Amino acid sequence: MRPRTLVPALFILCLFYSCQGNSPTGNGPEDKTVRSGPDCAASSPVTSIKNILLFTLDTVRQDQLGGYGHPAIKTPMLDRCIRSGYQFSDAYAESCWTIPSHASLFTSLYPRTHGAIRPHPHLDDELITIADVLTKHGFYCGAVVAASIFKAKTGFNQGFSYYDDHLIASESRPGELITEKATEFIASRRHHSFFLWVHYFDAHYPYDPPAPYDLFYCWEGLSRKGKKSFQKSRKMTVTDKAFAASNHGETNTTDLEIARALYQGEISYIDKQIEHVIRLLYREGLDKNTLVILVSDHGEYFGEDGYYYQHMVDLGQPVITIPYVFLLPDAQGHEIITEPVQLIDVLPTLIRLCGISHPQPEFHGKDLYRLLKKTRSFSQRYCYSEFHPTSEDKHYYSLVDGRTKYKQVLTSQEQQDFLYSLDQDNIEADISGQYPDKIRLYQSLLSQWKQDYDQKEATKDYQIPDELQKSLKVLGYTD
Ligand SMILES: [Zn+2]
Repeated sequence: MRPRTLVPALFILCLFYSCQGNSPTGNGPEDKTVRSGPDCAASSPVTSIKNILLFTLDTVRQDQLGGYGHPAIKTPMLDRCIRSGYQFSDAYAESCWTIPSHASLFTSLYPRTHGAIRPHPHLDDELITIADVLTKHGFYCGAVVAASIFKAKTGFNQGFSYYDDHLIASESRPGELITEKATEFIASRRHHSFFLWVHYFDAHYPYDPPAPYDLFYCWEGLSRKGKKSFQKSRKMTVTDKAFAASNHGETNTTDLEIARALYQGEISYIDKQIEHVIRLLYREGLDKNTLVILVSDHGEYFGEDGYYYQHMVDLGQPVITIPYVFLLPDAQGHEIITEPVQLIDVLPTLIRLCGISHPQPEFHGKDLYRLLKKTRSFSQRYCYSEFHPTSEDKHYYSLVDGRTKYKQVLTSQEQQDFLYSLDQDNIEADISGQYPDKIRLYQSLLSQWKQDYDQKEATKDYQIPDELQKSLKVLGYTD
């Protein structure tokens, strides 16, 4: 549990009025004491920021966006955002699946510290989140989530005054419903400072985009009827995913191409949804005062290392490399930032951009403001990720050395370290055994990191609610 500090009321009041101006309306969430650090008097570096719009594009691989170099996919709005803002080319998720990665994004803590990992996929009340901090500083905080694993009972609603998790008899809902709710929220709050988290889950398995996106990338000769026939025969469900996994490396080329085409169709569909939201910002004149952040929580395997249509297996590059974009209201053009970054950096960066009080000593992430302004680069940055599968005695840890582009992965069960080199496209090549000195160095760094960031003990009386257990199973997150 993180310590808390009581901040004098007058101090809070001064901060409140010095920040975003409008107070939230309606019933606010539970009040929490947000710890203030020494930087609390920082002025706003970007004074025009009044609103924050955070998109999380669940399961979207970095290399599947045109703005990140894909030669054929159609993602015009995302590409426009990328090419108008700060594009981080070397961005990593802290884990390979939804709950721990989003929890790291929201708390600026590594998964081992926030503890929202299996067998405890819950964001505990004592954690301080983006929404807690922004609510305290005058933002009206809203969220529209697309998957049942984010229902309010998983704790992700804390800090939000508005939390739309309305899913009826399904584990997820399509992007158009998310867009509808998100645009309603923006239209109704356009005169107040708001923070809105918009979560799209369409790229998550099973891939079944609506027309016309279902045939966007299917090759010549494959009709809609043929595609439906294929889906029916292949039963592209979680069961099929398990089948693919069990046939490690044996999915045939045709199946893989169709699955990839459907996945890309989902991404183009998401792009269209984001276009609706961004266009609303422009129509309402909110583009001039809204900070837009676009990230995903993890990627997806399409045959790399023999894994298909899944991500919750290990910490390979296809699942921990993510798109990561900041679009500032006063952005003058495209900047590519090659310094390595992680989701934990979003919270310290956005509150710095807004010039509000923040508990800097508490965060595990780095404030990227100086990277945006090119006044400083990281002298060194190691990006750490972790994955804790069901089996209690098997854990994965990875470290990416941002300077040398080496990556080390440790699996606790085998007590074995794997060393990889990363090329300019972040594709890894196994060079285990070639550089024992590097392996020893990264072993010591990983060991130190685990010591520095204690693993949170699971809440002893926590029981996964039956409904969440069912959702995790249907979505392929548990056996
Ligand atoms: Zn996810």
